[in-house]
This record gives sequence, structure tokens and C-alpha cells, in this order.
Amino acid sequence: MKAVVADPVGGPENLKYVDVGKPEPNAGEVLVKIQAIGVNFIDVYFRTGLYKAPEAPVKIGSEAAGIVEAVGSGSRFRPGDRVAYAMARGSYAEYAVVPEAVLVHVPDDITFEDAAALMLQGMTAHYLTRSTFPLSAGHTCLIHAAAGGVGLLLVQAAKIAGATVIGTVSTEEKARLVKQHGADHVVRYTEEDFTKTAKTITNGKGLDVVYDSVGSSTFFKSLDTLRPRGMMVSFGQSSGPVGPVDPLILSQKGSLFLTRPSLANYVSDPKELAWRASDLFEWHRRGLLKLQIHRTYPLAEAANAHRELESRASMGKLLLRP
Ligand code: NDP
Repeated sequence: MKAVVADPVGGPENLKYVDVGKPEPNAGEVLVKIQAIGVNFIDVYFRTGLYKAPEAPVKIGSEAAGIVEAVGSGSRFRPGDRVAYAMARGSYAEYAVVPEAVLVHVPDDITFEDAAALMLQGMTAHYLTRSTFPLSAGHTCLIHAAAGGVGLLLVQAAKIAGATVIGTVSTEEKARLVKQHGADHVVRYTEEDFTKTAKTITNGKGLDVVYDSVGSSTFFKSLDTLRPRGMMVSFGQSSGPVGPVDPLILSQKGSLFLTRPSLANYVSDPKELAWRASDLFEWHRRGLLKLQIHRTYPLAEAANAHRELESRASMGKLLLRP
């Protein structure tokens, strides 16, 4: 079978489309024939070596949807089941062995493409707005990179919860898209000072929460947008790692809360995983959560998908087709 691996870690040109052995599932695992693969920034971190993998060459990809082809002993899945998953590395491939603990059934009315687009970024939007800082009417939040894959879903999840949403983006085209997806205010953070906008919109009070996936270029300014005891959710580093933070700064800026969450810790309980996935499928079915598929590349062209993601050219989701 074909797969894409990073050999060695480095730039997009290090992604190699290679022949590898078809894996077999053990107990607690399922062999999935992959139909659609989600591209995520975490794939870039594993490709560059920012996140370390134990194996070499490094398996890339954490998200896919497909059809169960074989199961390990005692499985709750059956060959032919439609499934999707996030957080199991090695999805840039024609087949993947996936731990049952991360798999969900995909309802018949959800396409494989939509399921692959929903799992990782959708569950991230869900846990950030339902669990990390549970949003409700009366809250005002800031969402950086709001036109991105996570960003567009996060804007919509925050609106479903009833919050007021400020999104940041780099271009006018992205600003329009974010507005179309329900954001109340959009700031071109490459040109305007988003801290001023946040203060103006909240009449000087400050925001309840910032969802910051951009990292080094926005982190410290984001702290300045928060109300006393507001929450800084630093959940990514698309512009580079944040680096060391002195806890005293949280006290100086108003007894702030800082968290650096990861999806894995919000879906490790099977009930939580099922809750998040079923909410996402239902929101999508009801038209509350619209998916913006930016482009689908053949698996062999994964390097170009990475180039597009890293150059800030994509809006919404990038997919690969095996
Ligand atoms: P996106 O589609 O959001 O792409 C990244 C976006 O970040 C760009 O489109 C760009 O938007 C913005 N950006 C700002 N500065 C830079 C820069 N220097 N280089 C590249 N992009 C930049 O990617 P994803 O939706 O896949 O992921 C978004 C973030 O969320 C990532 O940091 C990822 O690691 C994180 N994440 C975290 C999870 C968690 O559980 N902790 C789970 C899932 C994702 P613009 O042009 O508008 O500035």
C-alpha cells in the first residue's frame, strides 16, 4: 500500500510517497481502508520534528474517515462499518490500523469528506467552547486565525453557545468568510491592534476568554485583551512556539488563568468522545456547523497541501484523497 512519511523530518519536500506493508489489527484495533484524510497543523509539527515521534521515517497524519476492513478479536466494530477518527498517527496512507478507543461510527448521512473534516478540528472547537472555557450568552471571546480549519469551526461553536465572537484574520477575503460564518466582529490583526478592538467592544472591561492558536506572534498581546480573572487558552503555535512564561505576568495582568490544552486529554473518556462526535454530526446535520473544504489533494501531493497550509493561503479545511 502507499503512504506518506517524513524521511527525514524537515520541510515539505521531505514528505515521501512510498510503498509500505499493509498493517494488521491486533486486539483493540481496527484496520481502516481510508477514504478521506484531514490535513492539520499538527502534521506540520511532526513533519518538522517540533513534535517528536519515536519511529523513523515518521508517520504523518492524525485524522481520517473510511471503511472498516478487518478487526482485532472481540471488537465492537464490523467489516464494512463507516468510521472516522482523530489522534491516531499514520493517516496519510491507503490503510491504517487504528485503536478502537479513538474511533467513532459515522452516520450514513455524513460523507467521508465531511467526517474527516469534522473529527480533529471539530472536536477541538467542541472541547474548547464546551469544556475548557464553557461559553454561554453574555460571554465575549476572541478567536485568532478565525478563517483557519479550527478557526471557522470555533467561531460557529461559540455562536451556537450564544457568545459574542471577535475573530482575527490576515486578509480581507478571510474577514468576509469569518463574518459569513457568524463572527460578530473581525479584526485584520496584521494591520490593526486587536487589543484596542477588544477593549472598545467590551467598553474597557476586557474579554472573558481568548482562544489563541497562533502562539509567538499573538500570545502576550492576547493577555492584554482579558478582563481580570479572564482565561487565556493557548492551544497552538502556528507562528512559532510561545517560549517560557513567568507566572507573575498572570497576576500583573489581572489574576488571569492560563491553560495549554490538548485534544487527547478531552477525548480519552469514551463517553466524552461519543458526546463530542454526536454533537458535531448533529450540528452539521442541522446546518449550524458549516464545513468549508478549501481543497482536496491526491495523497501523493501531501507536500503541496502542507505548503498551502503553512503559507496561510488556505481557508477552512484541507483534505487528502488516497
Ligand atoms: P489553520 O488552518 O488555522 O492554519 C493556520 C493559520 O494560522 C493560518 O491560516 C494563519 O491565519 C494563522 N497564522 C498566523 N501566523 C502564522 C504563521 N506565521 N504561519 C502560519 N500560519 C499563521 O490550521 P489548523 O486549523 O490545522 O490549526 C490551527 C492551530 O490550532 C494550530 O496551531 C494547531 O496546532 C492548533 N490545534 C491545537 C489543538 C489542540 O488540541 N491543542 C488541536 C487542533 C489544532 P491568518 O492568515 O488569518 O493569520
